[in-house]
Amino acid sequence: MAGKFLKTGVFIMLLVLLGALLIARSVEPERARAEPSPAAAGTPPAAGTPAPSVSPAPGPSPTPEPYADRPDIDISAWEYTLVNGENPLPADYIPQLRTVYDGQSFDVRAADALEAMVSEARAAGLVVYITSSYRAYAAQEYLFGKKVSEYVYSEGSEAAAVEKAKTIVAYPGTSEHQLGLACDLVDQDYAYMDESLEYTALSVWLAANCAEYGFILRYPKDKTALTGVMFEPWHFRYVGEAAAAYIMSNGLALEEFVALY
Ligand SMILES: [Zn+2]
Repeated sequence: MAGKFLKTGVFIMLLVLLGALLIARSVEPERARAEPSPAAAGTPPAAGTPAPSVSPAPGPSPTPEPYADRPDIDISAWEYTLVNGENPLPADYIPQLRTVYDGQSFDVRAADALEAMVSEARAAGLVVYITSSYRAYAAQEYLFGKKVSEYVYSEGSEAAAVEKAKTIVAYPGTSEHQLGLACDLVDQDYAYMDESLEYTALSVWLAANCAEYGFILRYPKDKTALTGVMFEPWHFRYVGEAAAAYIMSNGLALEEFVALY
């Protein structure tokens, strides 16, 4: 009898032990799972909530690039050469030239395009005159020197006169005309070369049609801070048809267009 009791007692003790073991095991994973949460609490935004897995989601659909539709061109090609105060041409840069209308010279690679544009404007009943096109480095030096000498007296010194002249005439090498790809187009009957030209029939026609011939209005009204040159409704620059269409339809300065590449 006593032996049976003992056996039963041992059996109950075993059951209790087994139960305790089971409870301990079932609790263990709970603690294990709970464990990381205090550690994660140190980095609140990255915590195990679904939030972080949601935030990378916008990645696959990024906001479209504003100029993703820019033309597929080699920006280092000759027709995109940027010439301005910060990007002067060397004194010995002389393009291969051809004589065009009005006794002017233009880069042979763009001469046909210039004559086509001028012919079309004339056919539309406009009086167009190419008053300036290729301008050699030496000619820029001469024009600049002349301006400096005009201001030496009023400015008080040669150095001050040079600074003053820079605001009126391009410093030698910084005139886009040296490229042989720029021209000044005016109405022979309209003598003034200033902003008032903007509203002449010729300027309106040129601004609307120049891109078709690969030309752009190089110094737009609202881009003087970028170009460093005042608004020049008469000055057109050859860049090729694809670039010209893009620049004119987006209202860009050449500086902005080149910066897209
Ligand atoms: Zn010009």
